Formats: sequence, structure tokens, C-alpha cells
Amino acid sequence: MAVPNPTLSRAVVEHLVRQVVYERLGKPLPRAAAAPNPLVVNVSARHCHLTPAAVEALFGPGYQLSVQKLLYQEGTFAAKETVTLVGPRSRVISNLRILGPLRGLNQVELAYTDAVSLGFDVPLRLSGNIEGTPGCMLMGPAGFLELHQGVIRARRHVHMSPEDAAFYGVKHGEEIKLKVGGPCAVTFDKLLVRVDKSVKLEAHIDTDEGNACNLRPDTPCELVK
Ligand SMILES: [Zn+2]
Repeated sequence: MAVPNPTLSRAVVEHLVRQVVYERLGKPLPRAAAAPNPLVVNVSARHCHLTPAAVEALFGPGYQLSVQKLLYQEGTFAAKETVTLVGPRSRVISNLRILGPLRGLNQVELAYTDAVSLGFDVPLRLSGNIEGTPGCMLMGPAGFLELHQGVIRARRHVHMSPEDAAFYGVKHGEEIKLKVGGPCAVTFDKLLVRVDKSVKLEAHIDTDEGNACNLRPDTPCELVK
């Protein structure tokens, strides 16, 4: 992967081009082009969010993460650093990516396929809602860290601004559908809407979901109620 990688996503470029083309043609905008912002759909591979104390326990005192790749949301990144996750039956995943910035709690997000291969029974949770979830052991170059809870499969969700929410007619905490086209077309129900004024329109699905519909950069996607 490039370091860092602020690539303009294909969905963003297409949205701009569509708007210009329809304007030149003097035709009314189709719904997708009339949306205030392009819809970017990204697949989140298994990863973890860590606290500063956790990074120090795993990598040593004063350790700072380095950026491997910038992510679509401002200020977020995939770190160069990974940790090894040890599951309940001593099975391991040796390349669990850390996502930055650091947070106030430790959380591991797995797809069900990862969970099955590790021997975990992980609950589907909204990110941040980890009460009563299973824990695991993390291993870094400088030490171990036992998490007593925090292993989840993240609920599929879409980040949007209040402007996007108004366009799609949804509110924070409601659900919308993500319709994915292409040869393996699938519509995902129960996409949780997360509204925040500082975010760009972006849907997050996991690797199981992304693989099920063979999501590619040119796969057409839309939000439908
Ligand atoms: Zn997200």
C-alpha cells in the first residue's frame, strides 16, 4: 500500500463528472447526481482501536503509531503497526491492523469469518458499545495486553452530515438500505445512520459483506429507504 495514500475515490470523481455532464446537457439531474455528496462505500477489514496506554503496553513507553495509509474520514488512518490477536482456543491472527487516532477504549472489530476461524462467538455491536462482549489477548513487540472485553463484529453503518441526512430523509440512529449493483448485486438492510457534521458520506461494511457482493471501485452503490 502507498504511504500515505490520499487518493481521490472513484465515487467522488464520478459524482463530480455526473453533475458537470448533466449541467452541460441542460438536463435535470437524476437522483444520484442530485445528492449533495458522493456516496463512498468502503470495506473495513479486521482491525483494532487502542488507547494510548494499550499502545505503550504493546510497543513500549512513549511509542507513537506511524501512518501507513490515510483513510477517507478526515484525521483517520491505518497505522503501519499491527498486533497479534490470540483467541479463546489459542488460535491467532498475526496481522491485526491498528486504526488511528487513538481512542478512549480498546476495541477489536472482526468479520464473522475471522471470528469463526479464531473460535470466537462475537456479538454484533455498534462501535463503542462493548459492555459484556468477549475479550482477547493482544501481543505486540514489547508485550502482551489482555482485553477483558471489546471484541465485536461492527454493525454496518453509514456516516453522513446533517445535509446528507436531510437529502435521504433519515435521522441519526435510524436505518437505511445500501443497494449494491453489479453481477453479485445485494441490498444490505439495517445500515445504521450515524450523523455528524464533521463527516463525509461513507458507508462501512466488513470483509464478509464486501466479498459477498464482490465490491469493486466501479461497483454502483446507492442508499435507499
Ligand atoms: Zn464507520
